[in-house]
Amino acid sequence: MRLQAFAKINLGLDVLGKREDGYHEVRMIMQTIRMYDQLDMKKSEEPGIHLTTNKNYIPVDESNLVYRAAKLMMDTCGITEGVSIHLHKVIPVAAGMAGGSSDAAATLVGMNRLFRCGLSKNRLMELGVQIGADVPYCVLRGTALAEGIGEKLTVLPPMPDCWILIGKPGISVSTKYVYTTLDLNTDTVHPDIDGMRKALEDGDLYGITDRMGNVLQDVTIPAYPEVETIKERMKAWGAVNAMMSGSGPTVFGIFDNEEKAQEACQKLRESGLCQQVFLTVPFNNYGGRTADDK
Ligand code: ATP
Repeated sequence: MRLQAFAKINLGLDVLGKREDGYHEVRMIMQTIRMYDQLDMKKSEEPGIHLTTNKNYIPVDESNLVYRAAKLMMDTCGITEGVSIHLHKVIPVAAGMAGGSSDAAATLVGMNRLFRCGLSKNRLMELGVQIGADVPYCVLRGTALAEGIGEKLTVLPPMPDCWILIGKPGISVSTKYVYTTLDLNTDTVHPDIDGMRKALEDGDLYGITDRMGNVLQDVTIPAYPEVETIKERMKAWGAVNAMMSGSGPTVFGIFDNEEKAQEACQKLRESGLCQQVFLTVPFNNYGGRTADDK
């Protein structure tokens, strides 16, 4: 069985405060993009979880979120047979694109189908939060408002057609470091999440791009100024707007014109500013299985 685990960007990311349990209360507008890791899963003769990947720096033990998701399904559904999973990574790692969370979400969905557990999508989303705050969203996919710690989800109308240029500089950023360093104060500029939601409802691309904002930039950009440089370059090369995704360091630029996006992609590759560059489009899940779910 082959599954695709899609990356996300945050069109808007606001942090409202810190909770007593250490988690942060967030309000984010999430968008799935057409960039994905691939998971090949099959039952195995040997009991247990047998995980392999195409990247030697990704762990294959219980610290991998795929392993944890498979274990959670085995425990929840009483699965005694073994499973072999090969994870083909494409999504940049420690990049603010929810790669690990999306792999975990695809594993929940895949295990549910492979072992015919019969759990609903909502139940998989409930289980997902035990693995990570973004996992329920990665099960849902598409355009959504995420509140609470990210697990309270409201489906929003799909993002209007556009091209999305992704650039990841050759640095990794720890999500934990960014959240613990974040200092919300009177200077914090909170993005207009409600205004962005309205713009999505109106199908107004420029209303969305005008409201792009991410409070985590206040931590990541001073530590890694190259993030700002990439944003500025993308805008100079024709992006309607550009911003950091999640805790970074990945930057995305939104284009309303394919030719301009292709040219900017070429320039970004040649600039040497980024280790990984992709040109992609929004992935909109119209509720249910898509042609990509094989
Ligand atoms: P987010 O956007 O949710 O903050 P991220 O892009 O910051 O995610 P990931 O790429 O998901 O971060 O992974 C961060 C760390 O988790 C890596 O350093 C890696 O060692 C570990 N990890 C565990 N499972 C995975 C996985 N399936 N894919 C990638 N990294 C994983």
